[in-house]
Amino acid sequence: MAIPADTSFRTDREFFVDPQRCIGCHACEMACAECETNGQIAMISVEYVQRAASPQTAVQICMHCEEPACAEVCPADAISKDEFGVVHSAATERCIACSNCVLACPFGVPKKIEPQQLMMKCNLCYDRTSAGRKPMCATVCPSGALSYGTRDEIAAARPGSDPVSVFRFGEQTVRTRVHVMMPKGSHLLVVD
Ligand code: SF4
Ligand code: SF4
Repeated sequence: MAIPADTSFRTDREFFVDPQRCIGCHACEMACAECETNGQIAMISVEYVQRAASPQTAVQICMHCEEPACAEVCPADAISKDEFGVVHSAATERCIACSNCVLACPFGVPKKIEPQQLMMKCNLCYDRTSAGRKPMCATVCPSGALSYGTRDEIAAARPGSDPVSVFRFGEQTVRTRVHVMMPKGSHLLVVD
């Protein structure tokens, strides 16, 4: 698909999640919820990894999969992936709130919003990124757990890490637009 001439989307910028740097401050959730297009609902989540044993938190955003399971299982064709690889939230006029996408996503991302009977999820702050700006969460994260920039910038900032965007769930391999920072030399994250 051709890239529109009237966009300021920076194709050289990518999203990098560095889970070990998350300090559980929830600033990302609060910033996301403030976006007027989200109806005060955060499209990013911060959870405790093992609450009884550790204060370690983990942050999860939509990984913008190359072959998004959410879109593949949607019977209403409400979820689309654009020319930049951004997987958009469900189109309001098409979504029938069946929850197929909620069940299919390997990362547990989409939320069915009951009052609106609509699936909502992160769309990479498309209103901002299409104007050449960073997603809100990456703008406010104080610890560098969330960053949006070029490969060169992340390589300079994290010399001991490599971005990984290939995930193995049992027999299934999922490739994503969003990267997780892993120890240097990593190419794959086996989730189970
Ligand atoms: S992470 Fe889940 S919601 Fe996001 S594109 Fe992939 S399957 Fe869809
Ligand atoms: S803003 Fe950054 S450090 Fe704070 S909870 Fe979110 S990801 Fe973690």
